[in-house]
Amino acid sequence: MMNYCPQCARPLVFRTVDGAYRRVCAEATCGFVFWDNPVPVVAGMVEIDSKILLASNREWPRGVFSVITGYLERGETPMQAVVREVQEELGVSGALGKYIGHYSLFKRNQLILAYHIHAQGEIVLNDELSDYLLLSPQELNQLTPVELPPSAPISPVFKPCVGNQDFTVLPLAMWCWKDFQ
Ligand SMILES: [Zn+2]
Repeated sequence: MMNYCPQCARPLVFRTVDGAYRRVCAEATCGFVFWDNPVPVVAGMVEIDSKILLASNREWPRGVFSVITGYLERGETPMQAVVREVQEELGVSGALGKYIGHYSLFKRNQLILAYHIHAQGEIVLNDELSDYLLLSPQELNQLTPVELPPSAPISPVFKPCVGNQDFTVLPLAMWCWKDFQ
Protein backbone atom coordinates (compact mmCIF):
# COMPACT_ATOMS: atom_id res chain seq x y z
CA MET A 1 0.00 0.00 0.00
CA MET A 2 1.33 3.40 -0.93
CA ASN A 3 1.65 5.77 2.05
CA TYR A 4 3.96 8.49 0.80
CA CYS A 5 3.95 10.68 -2.27
CA PRO A 6 6.34 9.37 -4.94
CA GLN A 7 6.79 12.93 -6.20
CA CYS A 8 7.57 14.85 -3.00
CA ALA A 9 7.70 12.19 -0.23
CA ARG A 10 4.98 13.81 1.91
CA PRO A 11 2.31 11.56 3.46
CA LEU A 12 -0.71 10.68 1.36
CA VAL A 13 -4.14 11.57 2.74
CA PHE A 14 -7.65 10.55 1.72
CA ARG A 15 -9.66 13.01 -0.32
CA THR A 16 -12.51 12.82 -2.80
CA VAL A 17 -11.22 13.19 -6.36
CA ASP A 18 -13.41 12.68 -9.43
CA GLY A 19 -16.20 11.30 -7.27
CA ALA A 20 -14.17 8.68 -5.43
CA TYR A 21 -12.26 8.51 -2.17
CA ARG A 22 -8.59 8.36 -3.10
CA ARG A 23 -5.13 8.78 -1.65
CA VAL A 24 -3.69 12.14 -2.63
CA CYS A 25 -0.60 14.09 -1.65
CA ALA A 26 -1.05 16.15 1.53
CA GLU A 27 0.71 19.04 -0.23
CA ALA A 28 -1.91 20.65 -2.46
CA THR A 29 0.62 22.25 -4.79
CA CYS A 30 2.08 18.82 -5.56
CA GLY A 31 -1.17 17.44 -6.91
CA PHE A 32 -0.23 13.75 -6.89
CA VAL A 33 -3.22 11.36 -6.94
CA PHE A 34 -2.82 7.63 -6.37
CA TRP A 35 -5.32 6.29 -8.90
CA ASP A 36 -4.74 2.65 -7.94
CA ASN A 37 -5.54 1.37 -11.43
CA PRO A 38 -5.88 -2.40 -11.88
CA VAL A 39 -2.71 -4.29 -12.73
CA PRO A 40 -2.72 -6.56 -15.79
CA VAL A 41 -1.84 -10.19 -15.13
CA VAL A 42 -1.44 -12.91 -17.73
CA ALA A 43 -2.77 -16.43 -17.23
CA GLY A 44 -1.76 -19.48 -19.24
CA MET A 45 -3.99 -22.51 -19.53
CA VAL A 46 -1.30 -24.98 -20.54
CA GLU A 47 -2.28 -28.00 -22.60
CA ILE A 48 0.16 -30.92 -22.84
CA ASP A 49 -0.79 -34.14 -24.66
CA SER A 50 -4.49 -33.18 -24.62
CA LYS A 51 -4.38 -32.64 -20.87
CA ILE A 52 -4.58 -29.40 -18.93
CA LEU A 53 -1.87 -28.51 -16.47
CA LEU A 54 -2.71 -27.03 -13.08
CA ALA A 55 0.03 -26.10 -10.67
CA SER A 56 0.21 -25.47 -6.95
CA ASN A 57 2.17 -22.61 -5.48
CA ARG A 58 4.34 -23.30 -2.43
CA GLU A 59 2.48 -20.68 -0.43
CA TRP A 60 -1.00 -21.94 -1.22
CA PRO A 61 -3.02 -24.32 0.94
CA ARG A 62 -2.33 -27.96 0.27
CA GLY A 63 -4.43 -29.40 -2.53
CA VAL A 64 -5.13 -26.12 -4.28
CA PHE A 65 -4.12 -25.79 -7.92
CA SER A 66 -4.60 -23.21 -10.62
CA VAL A 67 -3.43 -22.07 -14.02
CA ILE A 68 -0.04 -20.42 -14.55
CA THR A 69 -0.10 -16.68 -13.90
CA GLY A 70 2.34 -13.80 -13.81
CA TYR A 71 2.96 -10.10 -14.27
CA LEU A 72 4.04 -8.39 -17.44
CA GLU A 73 7.50 -6.92 -17.61
CA ARG A 74 8.22 -3.52 -19.08
CA GLY A 75 8.17 -3.57 -22.87
CA GLU A 76 6.49 -6.95 -23.01
CA THR A 77 3.21 -7.83 -24.73
CA PRO A 78 0.74 -10.07 -22.88
CA MET A 79 1.44 -12.82 -25.42
CA GLN A 80 5.18 -12.64 -24.77
CA ALA A 81 4.61 -12.52 -21.02
CA VAL A 82 2.45 -15.63 -20.83
CA VAL A 83 4.89 -17.68 -22.94
CA ARG A 84 7.75 -16.48 -20.72
CA GLU A 85 5.90 -17.32 -17.51
CA VAL A 86 5.18 -20.84 -18.75
CA GLN A 87 8.85 -21.28 -19.64
CA GLU A 88 10.04 -19.95 -16.29
CA GLU A 89 7.60 -21.83 -14.09
CA LEU A 90 7.37 -25.15 -15.95
CA GLY A 91 10.64 -25.31 -17.85
CA VAL A 92 8.89 -26.02 -21.14
CA SER A 93 8.52 -23.86 -24.22
CA GLY A 94 4.92 -23.17 -25.09
CA ALA A 95 3.27 -22.15 -28.32
CA LEU A 96 0.68 -19.44 -28.02
CA GLY A 97 -2.84 -20.71 -28.63
CA LYS A 98 -6.07 -18.77 -28.71
CA TYR A 99 -6.94 -15.88 -26.49
CA ILE A 100 -9.43 -17.14 -23.91
CA GLY A 101 -10.62 -13.86 -22.49
CA HIS A 102 -10.12 -11.14 -19.95
CA TYR A 103 -11.45 -11.21 -16.40
CA SER A 104 -11.66 -8.53 -13.76
CA LEU A 105 -10.38 -9.74 -10.42
CA PHE A 106 -11.60 -6.93 -8.18
CA LYS A 107 -10.38 -8.49 -4.94
CA ARG A 108 -6.81 -8.27 -6.19
CA ASN A 109 -7.28 -5.14 -8.31
CA GLN A 110 -6.10 -7.13 -11.32
CA LEU A 111 -7.18 -7.58 -14.90
CA ILE A 112 -6.48 -11.14 -16.02
CA LEU A 113 -5.63 -11.79 -19.67
CA ALA A 114 -5.92 -15.51 -20.32
CA TYR A 115 -4.39 -17.53 -23.13
CA HIS A 116 -4.36 -21.13 -24.22
CA ILE A 117 -0.78 -22.44 -24.41
CA HIS A 118 0.26 -25.62 -26.20
CA ALA A 119 3.37 -27.11 -24.68
CA GLN A 120 5.47 -30.23 -24.80
CA GLY A 121 8.55 -31.59 -23.13
CA GLU A 122 9.57 -32.53 -19.65
CA ILE A 123 8.17 -30.34 -16.89
CA VAL A 124 10.66 -28.93 -14.41
CA LEU A 125 8.92 -26.75 -11.82
CA ASN A 126 10.66 -23.62 -10.62
CA ASP A 127 10.97 -22.61 -6.96
CA GLU A 128 7.54 -20.96 -6.83
CA LEU A 129 5.68 -24.18 -7.49
CA SER A 130 5.43 -27.32 -5.40
CA ASP A 131 3.35 -29.67 -7.53
CA TYR A 132 1.35 -29.99 -10.71
CA LEU A 133 -1.46 -32.03 -12.21
CA LEU A 134 -2.17 -33.04 -15.79
CA LEU A 135 -5.88 -33.62 -16.11
CA SER A 136 -8.27 -34.58 -18.86
CA PRO A 137 -11.32 -32.33 -19.30
CA GLN A 138 -13.41 -35.06 -17.66
CA GLU A 139 -11.12 -35.10 -14.65
CA LEU A 140 -11.17 -31.32 -14.45
CA ASN A 141 -14.94 -31.36 -14.31
CA GLN A 142 -14.75 -33.42 -11.15
CA LEU A 143 -12.57 -30.96 -9.28
CA THR A 144 -14.14 -28.63 -6.80
CA PRO A 145 -13.63 -24.93 -7.38
CA VAL A 146 -12.84 -23.20 -4.12
CA GLU A 147 -12.79 -19.56 -3.20
CA LEU A 148 -9.96 -18.51 -0.95
CA PRO A 149 -9.92 -15.70 1.62
CA PRO A 150 -8.93 -12.25 0.31
CA SER A 151 -5.48 -12.55 1.87
CA ALA A 152 -4.66 -15.68 -0.12
CA PRO A 153 -3.19 -15.54 -3.60
CA ILE A 154 -6.06 -15.95 -6.00
CA SER A 155 -6.06 -16.79 -9.66
CA PRO A 156 -8.99 -17.20 -11.94
CA VAL A 157 -9.82 -20.74 -12.74
CA PHE A 158 -10.71 -22.08 -16.09
CA LYS A 159 -12.95 -25.04 -16.57
CA PRO A 160 -11.70 -25.95 -19.97
CA CYS A 161 -12.74 -28.41 -22.58
CA VAL A 162 -10.12 -29.46 -25.07
CA GLY A 163 -11.10 -29.57 -28.71
CA ASN A 164 -14.03 -27.78 -30.23
CA GLN A 165 -15.89 -27.05 -27.05
CA ASP A 166 -15.87 -23.62 -25.49
CA PHE A 167 -14.23 -22.74 -22.26
CA THR A 168 -16.28 -22.13 -19.18
CA VAL A 169 -14.65 -19.76 -16.77
CA LEU A 170 -15.08 -19.65 -13.04
CA PRO A 171 -13.28 -16.55 -11.85
CA LEU A 172 -12.32 -16.04 -8.21
CA ALA A 173 -11.89 -19.71 -7.59
CA MET A 174 -9.14 -22.26 -7.63
CA TRP A 175 -9.20 -25.98 -8.07
CA CYS A 176 -9.18 -28.09 -4.98
CA TRP A 177 -7.61 -31.44 -5.69
CA LYS A 178 -8.41 -33.21 -2.44
CA ASP A 179 -12.04 -33.84 -3.41
CA PHE A 180 -11.08 -35.48 -6.65
CA GLN A 181 -11.27 -39.27 -6.79
ZN1 LIG B 1 3.48 15.13 -3.33
